[in-house]
Parts: sequence; structure tokens; C-alpha cells
Amino acid sequence: MSTPLQRILVTGGAGFLGSHLCEQLVAQGYDVLCLDNFFTSQKQNITHLLDRPNFQLIRHDVSLPIWMEVDQIYNLACPASPVHYQFNPIKTVKTSVLGAINMCGLAKRTQAKILQASTSEVYGDPQVHPQPENYRGHVNPIGVRACYDEGKRCAETLFFDYHRSNGVNIRVVRIFNTYGPRMHPYDGRVVSNFIIQALKDKDLSIYGDGSQTRSFCYVDDMIDGFVRMMAAPDSFIGPVNLGHPEGEFTMQQLAELVLELTGSKSRITYLPLPDDDPAQRRPDITLARQHLGWEPTVTLHEGLAKTVEYFRSIDLDRFQPPTDHTAHKSSGL
Ligand code: NAD
Ligand code: UDP
Repeated sequence: MSTPLQRILVTGGAGFLGSHLCEQLVAQGYDVLCLDNFFTSQKQNITHLLDRPNFQLIRHDVSLPIWMEVDQIYNLACPASPVHYQFNPIKTVKTSVLGAINMCGLAKRTQAKILQASTSEVYGDPQVHPQPENYRGHVNPIGVRACYDEGKRCAETLFFDYHRSNGVNIRVVRIFNTYGPRMHPYDGRVVSNFIIQALKDKDLSIYGDGSQTRSFCYVDDMIDGFVRMMAAPDSFIGPVNLGHPEGEFTMQQLAELVLELTGSKSRITYLPLPDDDPAQRRPDITLARQHLGWEPTVTLHEGLAKTVEYFRSIDLDRFQPPTDHTAHKSSGL
């Protein structure tokens, strides 16, 4: 007798990471349900999947309950860029918290395995560097980033309580800055901003003096980490850091690399640093190496070159900025 087809729900499936995940799961032959309210994405990301027999799109808001039968859930629905998650901060908390309750409830009823896309932001502005999973973080609970940071922290709490109280089979990954093709061109995050600015010969907008760091991971490596974590033994539920341990760069270095790769004549301008902007961030990935055999393989140079190629190939006029946050004015986009 053949094994029944596994049905997998991907919330936020039309977004940057979600669309790559859906693409991989469809290619592997799973029955994929992509759920999205298109807050920070557009249909373009998944149009190539729409005519596939094992792909289905559901327009729905994850903060509202939904009834369906599934075997696995990847819960990715949430705006990820500071400019968009700060646009409607209360909605951001609802998406994280009510979304986690609705999806864990669905997992409980259907006995599905569920993976939460958590974030390095649970460490806030970290005072331990690099960050291991047992570092409890340094988050300002009343600051402008709190709607996202605390929303994601509460989602982790809910996942672990559904696991302890109801036996839900959970996985939690803490994602560090990830970039690549299908980021929204007006996403507002640093990689897309710098590349679009460079391609349009506009000034690259560094916030602060450019000395703050992030560790950048290419999307293909990240999706591989998600799938490995979902397949991990039930004894390893996380949280586990996924990010590039050697990809730590200052924003000044990133801007210079983007200028080199695009051959742009743009200059660099320095704008005020947003409140609570973390000064440094780099993952300790010892657990991911040990339990998942996972290690990023794509360098920032290689990954940025592919991302530049993608942004050169798309028609920017077909994209609308998801929100009219003022950061779009300061970044010139
Ligand atoms: P994205 O903005 O491209 O994708 C998020 C998707 O979720 C979008 O398609 C958006 O329309 C959808 N969405 C937002 N609110 C929703 C709601 N209420 N109901 C249904 N859909 C909703 O961002 P991304 O980079 O692909 O991020 C995906 C997930 O990974 C997010 O949960 C994010 O917090 C997490 N994450 C990403 C990064 C990164 O560097 N890319 C880092 C840490 C965590
Ligand atoms: N940043 C910048 N210019 C931009 C956008 C962002 O210098 O046009 C900085 C931002 O202040 C932060 C870093 O780049 O220090 C990463 O920002 P992003 O929004 O990509 O992600 P996050 O802060 O959530 O890591």
C-alpha cells in the first residue's frame, strides 16, 4: 500500500521565505496549502505554482481561526521588516499571538507537526555575542520593536505550552537575517533597500554610522534548515538558531559590497539610527550543526550577486510598497 500524500500548510506562504518553501515542498510532491493575506507580499511570488495540481492558495488572515485537515504546518505569517511590522503594531502582535494560538489549535486537533518561524529578535539588542539559544535576550518591552520581538517571544511561549499541556509536536527555529530573490523590492529591509537604491542610482541610506552588524544568510540555506528541522527527531524541538555564523558584516561593509556588485555610481548617506536598533547580531549555530547537520554554504558575495540579478530582472513598476511608512521617504524608495 502506498503512503498517503502528506498535506502541508504554509502560513505566510506567498512571502519571501514562504514562497521558496512552498516551491520546494511542491517540487518534493507534497500537497501544499499556501495561506496568506498578502499584507507584505504580492501574488507574483507564487504565480508559477498556481497551476500545479499539488498547490492551493488560500487568502486568509492567520489571526482568525481556520478549519482544515493537515499533516504539517510551517507558521511563517507575520510582517518581518521593521517598517511594516511597526506600521500597525497592534496588528503585528495579533498576527504573532493569535496566529500562534490558531495554528497550535489546528495542530492539536489534527495532530499535525508544527514549526514556528521565530527570530533572532527574541534576543533584542544582545549583550552576549554570538547568541546561543540559552541566552534569554535583552528586549525593550515598551519600545517600537516590541510588537514584533515580544509577539514572537509570546508565540514561542505558546508553542512550548501547547507542547507541554497538549502534547503538540512542535519545532521552533530562530531565524537570523535572511535575504535573496523574492524579497519585496519595497520591503524596507537593508539588503533590498541598498540594492534597489544602487540600481536606481539613488543614495544608499545607512541608518546611524554604519558600524552596527547583522549576519546574513542566503534564502536557499535557510529553507534547507527549515526542512531539516521539520524532519528532526521528536526529541529535538528547539529553539534552534538558523543563520550564517561567518556572515557578520557592518552596514558600511554591506553598502560597499552592494556598490561593487552593481557597479553603481550611487553615494552613501547617513540617516538617524532607529530606536532600539540592535548593535550586533551573530548566531551560535552549534545546536543546528549537532542535531540537523546544518551549515550555510552560500557566501554573502555569492548570495548578493544572485539577489542583484533578481532585482535587475523584475519590473519594479509592478510592485506597490506594502505600507506608506515614513521610512520609505527617508530611504528614497
Ligand atoms: P515576508 O514579509 O516576505 O513574508 C511574510 C508573509 O506573511 C507575507 O506574505 C505576508 O503577506 C504574510 N502575512 C503577514 N501577516 C499575515 C496575517 N495576519 N495573515 C496571513 N498572512 C500574513 O517576510 P519573510 O522574510 O518571508 O518572513 C517570513 C517569516 O520568517 C516571518 O514570520 C518572519 O518573522 C520570520 N523571520 C524572517 C527573517 C528574515 O530575515 N527574512 C528573520 C527572522 C524571522
Ligand atoms: N538599515 C540601514 N539602511 C536601510 C535599512 C536598514 O542602514 O535602508 C539598517 C538598520 O538600521 C539595521 C540593519 O540595517 O541596523 C538591518 O536592518 P533590517 O531592517 O534589514 O533588519 P533588522 O534590523 O530587523 O535586523
